Amino acid sequence: MKYADLHVHTYYSDSTFSPKQVIDIAHEKGIDVIGITDHDCFGGIDEACACAKEYNIEIVPGIEISAITDDDKEIHILGYYLDRKDEDFLKKLEIIYASRIERVYLVTKLLQEKGLDIEAQDIFNIVGKGTISRLHIARAIYEKGFVRSLGAAFKKYIGVNAPCYLPHMKISPQETIESILAAGGVPVIAHPITMNDDSLISELVDYGLKGIEVFHTNHSVSDEKKYKKIAKQFGLIMTGGSDCHGDAKRNVLLGSRLVQYEVVEQLKRASLNNV
Ligand code: AMP
Ligand code: MN
Ligand code: MN
Ligand code: MN
Repeated sequence: MKYADLHVHTYYSDSTFSPKQVIDIAHEKGIDVIGITDHDCFGGIDEACACAKEYNIEIVPGIEISAITDDDKEIHILGYYLDRKDEDFLKKLEIIYASRIERVYLVTKLLQEKGLDIEAQDIFNIVGKGTISRLHIARAIYEKGFVRSLGAAFKKYIGVNAPCYLPHMKISPQETIESILAAGGVPVIAHPITMNDDSLISELVDYGLKGIEVFHTNHSVSDEKKYKKIAKQFGLIMTGGSDCHGDAKRNVLLGSRLVQYEVVEQLKRASLNNV
């Protein structure tokens, strides 16, 4: 039996691990398949594939996009098996990238107004090779000693509803799902528990959602039960993964949630690309 962790970040977004470190740990833990799902970029995938060959580990190419609803709810959408050369999709990623850089300057200004002695460069210094996220901003606030934990940085400063929160760019759930589909990929809602409103799922299904992340580190057994039921109701693929961020979050989560290989086959069948 083969098992997959379908939600893993690298230092091409906000994990501290290189793709090679991810694969080495996957090998140590005996995980057969790894889904690389960095925020807003494909940067880590080729490197992960090259490293994975050595151990006969399979890579599921993916991405995680943070969509924002009209009333400022954040919904994360995973996309699997997209055409990574799709020009329209790459254009969107470029726009998101630019807006994330712009946000660093804007948030830094808000933090300075709150009395924090912090510069945009402090954040750029800890960014890896790709997407700049709020986790980097939180790490800069923490490493400069303004808070005692990363959680506190979100709570006090940059979390949704905190005074220095700014989303990077408003891309709607509809646009996100349609763009993933247009690039031949399979859109899946990530960690639906964080959305805090299951009634939105049917709307996402209308836009073309094909899967739901039933198994996630932050889901309890009763959450899993609830989302399994919702998946069946709408005929959605039931995916799962750890959402490992290296040691950028409390501990290394790789493999904390696994799904059977059958799920990988379902994703392949749902993709329009030759995978
Ligand atoms: P962004 O997409 O740049 O706005 O940042 C979102 C990322 O910040 C998420 O994917 C998480 O990695 C991280 N994040 C958001 N809220 C929290 C929190 N309360 N604690 C820790 N990490 C968080
Ligand atoms: Mn993240
Ligand atoms: Mn997420
Ligand atoms: Mn994630």
